[in-house]
Amino acid sequence: MIKILFATANKGKLREAAEVLGPEYEVVSPAEIGITEDIPETGATLQENSLQKARYLYERAGLPCFADDTGLEVEALGGAPGIHTARYAGPGHDSGKNMDKLLKELERLEPGSSNRRAQFRTVVTLILADGQPHFFEGVCKGSIAREKHGDGGFGYDPVFLPDAYPGRAFAEVSDEDKNAVSHRGQAIRAMAAWLHSH
Ligand code: IMP
Repeated sequence: MIKILFATANKGKLREAAEVLGPEYEVVSPAEIGITEDIPETGATLQENSLQKARYLYERAGLPCFADDTGLEVEALGGAPGIHTARYAGPGHDSGKNMDKLLKELERLEPGSSNRRAQFRTVVTLILADGQPHFFEGVCKGSIAREKHGDGGFGYDPVFLPDAYPGRAFAEVSDEDKNAVSHRGQAIRAMAAWLHSH
């Protein structure tokens, strides 16, 4: 088995990546190899953040590793919250407050607007033994609901209506159905396909 480090503490993300990469790979978290500090994330783009996290881990651990960074890009808000998605309503990563702010901003900037188009975008950076970064992107298109629906998933799932499942929020579909179409699922599958062909 090839040990590969994934820059996340999220158990769901670790499980999903392990399933996509298959039995040849052992996906480990930074904590499992004793890296417990916060990994810096100060870039101006998703790609910079994802590269920064992967590079940090590669330099610390010297193992093959990958990192992801995701943003929600809302058309009527000019692509916001983008890289600020996790802290949209301020520090503390409170998903409820983040969604409330998003719904309020859309109403404030575009009262009654019918343009609720949005996408989640994930950039994954993979670094192997040669230290060179490889980038993989996944996009999931949809729209922003007028209120929250469902209690599954995490983050903005209750207000994101993916085009792939008309009439349902991400928080109302199973993890399996979500992973099949999600931004992160696509980016990690693209990385897995690349790894299997190299
Ligand atoms: P991260 O890069 O995965 O940490 O994601 C940044 C922020 O985007 C998180 O704080 C989440 O609120 C949000 N986010 C990322 N992926 C998803 C998703 O699949 N559904 C809903 N929100 C997400």
